[in-house]
Amino acid sequence: MALIVQKYGGTSVGNIERIQNVAEKVIGWRERGHQIVVVVSAMSGETDRLIGLAKGITDRPPPRELDVLLSTGEQVTIALLCIALEKHGCPARSYTGGQARILTDNAFNKARIQAIEADAMRADLDAGRVVVVAGFQGVDEDGNITTLGRGGSDTTGVALAAALKADECQIYTDVDGVYTTDPRVVPEARRLDRITFEEMLEMASAGSKVLQIRSVEFAGKHNVPLRVLSSFQEGPGTLITFEEALEAEPMEKELISGIAFNRDEAKLTVLGVPDRPGVAFSILGPVSDANIEVDMIIQNIGRDGTTDFTFTVHRNDYERTLEILRQHATQLGAREVSGDNKIAKLSLVGIGMRSHAGVASRMFEALAKEGINIRMISTSEIKISVVVDEKYLELGVRALHEAFELNKAA
Ligand code: ADP
Ligand code: ASP
Ligand code: MG
Repeated sequence: MALIVQKYGGTSVGNIERIQNVAEKVIGWRERGHQIVVVVSAMSGETDRLIGLAKGITDRPPPRELDVLLSTGEQVTIALLCIALEKHGCPARSYTGGQARILTDNAFNKARIQAIEADAMRADLDAGRVVVVAGFQGVDEDGNITTLGRGGSDTTGVALAAALKADECQIYTDVDGVYTTDPRVVPEARRLDRITFEEMLEMASAGSKVLQIRSVEFAGKHNVPLRVLSSFQEGPGTLITFEEALEAEPMEKELISGIAFNRDEAKLTVLGVPDRPGVAFSILGPVSDANIEVDMIIQNIGRDGTTDFTFTVHRNDYERTLEILRQHATQLGAREVSGDNKIAKLSLVGIGMRSHAGVASRMFEALAKEGINIRMISTSEIKISVVVDEKYLELGVRALHEAFELNKAA
């Protein structure tokens, strides 16, 4: 007998028939003798709909109230799934995040899980019940409802698996695993049997929304065996694994595991700032004081005592960052502040990069062949990212997928 945490995403519970399908799947697993904890998302489109309602009143709804509103989406699904399970004679009990004692900090809209008091859930499991938990939500120490950021149900699943010491955390979604890139953009993309935590983390942070970044971080840190599978078809899915486990197998290592992309960023440039110590701090200090996260940063070589500085932020923070820079520009002695929010970031990810030279030049060549201009470049040990004009996103991803022959197994 194993204890399995299964998370079903929005599309998988998108209507009543699909919820009943999930119930049947869960019952199948239970009949094979396993203890099952199910985490569900809101029905597809529901979280967006709720955000739309709030935005219909104001652009900046109070974060606490937004979380009260958004948490209702998942509350609907836990109840419906339990109703479906009980209809088939399967004892089940629903838990909101607060009832599951998923304790978070009080950062509304992007709260972090700090602890889970799992005794009640354990007692239910031991009594033979299926436990159904609302994803994406928790409760802070004052009893306020919090949510974990978009895609946060993945993290609920992993955190529950860690707290309950589950044998596996299965993420059921609308694709049958992690692919070399989003199969909606490149139909030739290939499902990976395995990917390392490190690579998955880079893929997720570079924009592959198949798993929320924090869920991958959490699973790596707490050693949670994590698998991505389809809700709609049988198959092995993709196992997220440790590099050492891969090395034990006589498989040829892939150079590149995947391509991630992101159109959620915007680029800001400060031209002609005095080139002296502290310049980066004086530009980015006020930005970080406003709680705005900065991603890529480039400072040009100084000329004639001045330099240019470019960085990227989340597109939602673009206007505010521009405002902050303009406010401080005279103080900084900058000649000009400008920005562009029609950019996209393409990233190649692979642990094979560590031991191979020439990946970057092959990447740049492939983009050049398509006439795609690179605006920024950043590299890490297992990732190379470039910023290009947004209109080239799909073309760029396809060109890179082909250049690195990712449709073929190594
Ligand atoms: P869920 O609602 O189940 O959480 P998501 O929409 O959050 O589902 O994540 C699944 C989607 O992630 C897929 O439909 C796919 O379009 C997208 N995706 C992006 N990159 C990848 C990738 N490398 N492999 C698989 N899916 C990806
Ligand atoms: N319903 C939330 C969202 O749409 C959480 C999730 O689906 O993981 O972001
Ligand atoms: Mg998701």
